Amino acid sequence: MRLNVPLLDDQELAAVGEVLASGYLTQGARTARFEREIAEVAGTTHAQAVSSATTGLHLALVGLGIQPGDEVVIPGFSFPATANAVIQQGATPVFVDIQRSTFNLDPGLLESAITERTRAVMPVHAFGLCADMDPIVAIADRHGLPVIEDAACALGGLYHGRGAGSLATAGVFSFHPRKIITTAEGGMITTDDDALAERIAVLRAHGAVRGELFMEFVEAGFNYRLSDVHAAIGSAQMRKLPMILHGRRTRAAELTERLAGLDGVHAPVAPEGIEHTYQSYVVRLDDDIDRDAVIRAMRAKDVETTLGTYGMHLQPYFRARFDIADDALPETTRAHHQALTLPLYPQLTDDDLDTIVDALRDSVATSRREAA
Ligand SMILES: *Cc1c(COP(=O)(O)O)cnc(C)c1O
Repeated sequence: MRLNVPLLDDQELAAVGEVLASGYLTQGARTARFEREIAEVAGTTHAQAVSSATTGLHLALVGLGIQPGDEVVIPGFSFPATANAVIQQGATPVFVDIQRSTFNLDPGLLESAITERTRAVMPVHAFGLCADMDPIVAIADRHGLPVIEDAACALGGLYHGRGAGSLATAGVFSFHPRKIITTAEGGMITTDDDALAERIAVLRAHGAVRGELFMEFVEAGFNYRLSDVHAAIGSAQMRKLPMILHGRRTRAAELTERLAGLDGVHAPVAPEGIEHTYQSYVVRLDDDIDRDAVIRAMRAKDVETTLGTYGMHLQPYFRARFDIADDALPETTRAHHQALTLPLYPQLTDDDLDTIVDALRDSVATSRREAA
């Protein structure tokens, strides 16, 4: 059983065929339509398609004027693209520890991470669960800092009735095949800030603005555009979004119910008022369970699982560059070692869910560490 299987059918195939037949391939009308569809779900006035969430995060940072030597506060636990986008701009990521229960940036630790060099805060909505944005934005506001949501996994997620991507200065979604919808590769920046949106539009396409006859190049820009081929896949996927979100949420609830009696396995929680997308269904295993042994045992039973995501300070590049002690980010370190992603997607049957839980029960039983 695979960890995730994107929902693709004749609709995506037909959409791509139509674009190819039209002869107009790069960013155009289909991208504009896909952007409007995302803006509507996020609840923002602007949505700008980009080639990935990683280029989107980078572009948002550039658009906000982040420069070499600046510091950007991010959670310690994320896919390393979050930190890489900061580093690509010559800025320094400052890692803050997470909450054990939600895997999200701990707002109580944010204030002490802010220095006179801090220029932005970039919380991540871990696995599609919105970070606790009200306190995060309040602290950032007090320091005059913009906030970028790394909403890569959170399309359709809600925070007290407001859409992920609309909760701060800007938000960034991913359309990688592991995410809620896919365009193969792709991303989107959302914002209500007109000036930021305009700057991003220019930077996204070579720093060019249209003159009467020719382009004028007003910035040293990038080519971070999404093609109309990819956007057409995105629009076909958007028609499935309600079904995908409903399917993920119901399967997640059913999985949580089945895990209730399983000793040492903690199902994901969504605090009151936050609607998870369950881009990934991530459990936490008690510290006396060898998570990697569980992954191997599950694989032997033909159930694909993986870690949650990365304690970035534990990865070779970040370890060499920042040398952050394990106990400086205790919950990030714990999550790196003890979090486990289980298969979850709308196509899973009741039998599949039983298979996952039976395999997990057996795998955990054989993966207890000897008491010290
Ligand atoms: C997937 C992911 C990214 C990167 O997305 P791409 O579209 O593959 O660049 C960034 N941040 C988080 C939290 C992610 O999960």
